[in-house]
Amino acid sequence: MNFERDLLTKTNYKNFSNTKVKTNSNRQQKVVLAIGAHPDDIEIGCGATLAKHKARGDIIHGLILTGGGQHGNPLIRESEVRRAASIVGIKSLSFADLEDTYIFENLRATILAIEALVKQINPDIVYSHSEHERHQDHLGAFLATRVACRKTPQVLLYETPSILPSFTPQVYVNVEDTIETKLDAIRVYASQSSSYYMECDLVEGLAKIRGYSQNVRFCEAFELLWIVRW
Ligand SMILES: [Zn+2]
Repeated sequence: MNFERDLLTKTNYKNFSNTKVKTNSNRQQKVVLAIGAHPDDIEIGCGATLAKHKARGDIIHGLILTGGGQHGNPLIRESEVRRAASIVGIKSLSFADLEDTYIFENLRATILAIEALVKQINPDIVYSHSEHERHQDHLGAFLATRVACRKTPQVLLYETPSILPSFTPQVYVNVEDTIETKLDAIRVYASQSSSYYMECDLVEGLAKIRGYSQNVRFCEAFELLWIVRW
């Protein structure tokens, strides 16, 4: 892994100001970090919620742990995730360049990669993978997040197509007004279009089911790892 190089060459953190301002709604701006094991995980898991953060004036960072080389050309996948990230409102994107499908074996490097970014941006809220996963990279990302984000006040865990039935959401975000933005981001992933889980009907259907349980049209659902109030 060469995280320092990536931070210097693939992100704009050098110029990032961490000064928080009041948003239009007079609410303090939040710094948000979304972590994904592969390109496309963030948009699948919390793309509509990130678009809501963006609409509320929050600053959103993304961290992609691997290039996803097991399922496509990493260069193409990087270009897709950059476009998709900008659609949902991610301000800057970092790449840890860990080896696809080996996060679990590289847990220490993964923790250090996340910690390095957390130290720079000091997020208020982190979105990452759940413990209830059958994909080894997603499970490894969860374990690394739990350690690396131990000082972050709020950590929420999203669902992916490899989620286990034991995933038990406690937090629902009404995404009626941003579901279309999420679908626009999903459509960017042409290299993954043969995967059934990238079908917009399915992505929208899951949001409908999550919304149905909360009496709204569309929701994204999250497990709460922890939240620290004042
Ligand atoms: Zn993934």
